Amino acid sequence: MKKAYFIDRDGTLNVEVSYLCEPDKTEIIPRCAEAIRAIHLAGFLAVVVTNQAGIARGMYSVTEMMSVHVRIQKLLLEQGSDCTVDAFYYCPHHEKFTGECPCRKPQPGMLQQAAAALDIDVENSVMVGDRISDLYAGRNAGCRFSVLVKSGYGVNHAEMAEQENFPVAGDLYEAVAKTIGKI
Ligand SMILES: [Mg+2]
Ligand SMILES: [Zn+2]
Repeated sequence: MKKAYFIDRDGTLNVEVSYLCEPDKTEIIPRCAEAIRAIHLAGFLAVVVTNQAGIARGMYSVTEMMSVHVRIQKLLLEQGSDCTVDAFYYCPHHEKFTGECPCRKPQPGMLQQAAAALDIDVENSVMVGDRISDLYAGRNAGCRFSVLVKSGYGVNHAEMAEQENFPVAGDLYEAVAKTIGKI
């Protein structure tokens, strides 16, 4: 089985832009490409798990979201062929518009889907995100660590994360550095 870093998208991998759906507005957070390189060097997969309720809200299409993912991969590839994401999982739902679903974080469904498809050992994997709901998704899935990053919305979620004994890091790079030797 493989180990993985499950990585939230907006505010963790790319700069937070409300309901991002335009490739031209997509910007990678500094040191994230290096973080993914380190993930790969240590033998882990890098798997993005992202809530995309803008789709449920009719604000953008799956195709538009995919164009952002293509852009993310292109920007990462510019930093090196070992810096790209291995898979993207998204939840297009929102309870108010499409009903309850098993995949919208804090539910662990996307992590479970990825684990089944890619043969991932979740108990020896890590979730990283900028919202407390990301951390609950990691905890609900049974990840070894669920780390809050202070990029994106993370500054506002750090106190809550600390109260619940989740580790806190400045960014994805630091989250990886703090955890990768412990698994
Ligand atoms: Mg986020
Ligand atoms: Zn969903």
